[in-house]
Amino acid sequence: MSFRSISREALVGSITLGLVFVVGYILGKKKSSRMNIGKSHSTKVNPLLQYVLNNSMREHPILKKVRMMTMEYCHNSMMVSSEQSQFMVNLAKLIKAKKAIEIGVYTGYNTLNMALALPDDGVLVACDISETYTNMAKPFWKEAGVENKIDLRLQPALKTLDDFLADGQAETFDFVFIDADKVNVDAYYEKSLLLLRKGGIIAIDNVLWGGKVLDPAPDDEDTIALDKLNKKLHKDIRINLSMLMVADGLTLAFKL
Ligand code: SAM
Ligand code: CA
Repeated sequence: MSFRSISREALVGSITLGLVFVVGYILGKKKSSRMNIGKSHSTKVNPLLQYVLNNSMREHPILKKVRMMTMEYCHNSMMVSSEQSQFMVNLAKLIKAKKAIEIGVYTGYNTLNMALALPDDGVLVACDISETYTNMAKPFWKEAGVENKIDLRLQPALKTLDDFLADGQAETFDFVFIDADKVNVDAYYEKSLLLLRKGGIIAIDNVLWGGKVLDPAPDDEDTIALDKLNKKLHKDIRINLSMLMVADGLTLAFKL
């Protein structure tokens, strides 16, 4: 082997190692910034939010397991923030919710939290279209002993809501959490309002959509749908309303 060929190999090796390092560094940065939103309770969370988490979170050990598992997963930014989930569950307890609906389950963090809070004869209808995501959730529901309270419906959520309406279950639900595809958010809201009893609560996630609602791009269907609903709810006399700057924006509609 000539001196020249050794140097070329060494050079190629160094370049490859360098590239691996740079890509690894960028991916590592991306991951930690995605985790910096009150979900991971990591050291990267802003200090005031960390204080809030340290002094308010009462996370069930199996919920923590779901959160840690999800944080290792590629689409982890879809998971609800733990402090928002705890807040919604406290609201559900306050109104003594027995029948609830979750539209968009993913790895089941909020589904599990809500199911833990419901009474033994309570039911949480969990709507999703992904077997992959919900299969990740199921073992934790079993481990927590709440799988009997979770009625998983694997089909488009609009169909599930229509099924309940057709089945005469209007005005029988206490709490609905809307957290699935955003283009359908208005339809989810309208159908949920029909299914909700007076005094029931609809919680709608991501209503600020990373701030994009301030200036929706003409071709951005998700942002347009969320902005339209936000403006519609402001004038909706069927509900009392709060829009909170929690996580990515949380709207609470209280049925009158
Ligand atoms: N609420 C979840 C949590 O606690 O972490 C997060 C839900 S994630 C943001 C959105 C979910 O909506 C995904 O699991 C996706 O499969 C589901 N989804 C998307 N389109 C849907 C549809 N048309 N009907 C039902 N679920 C849908
Ligand atoms: Ca969400």
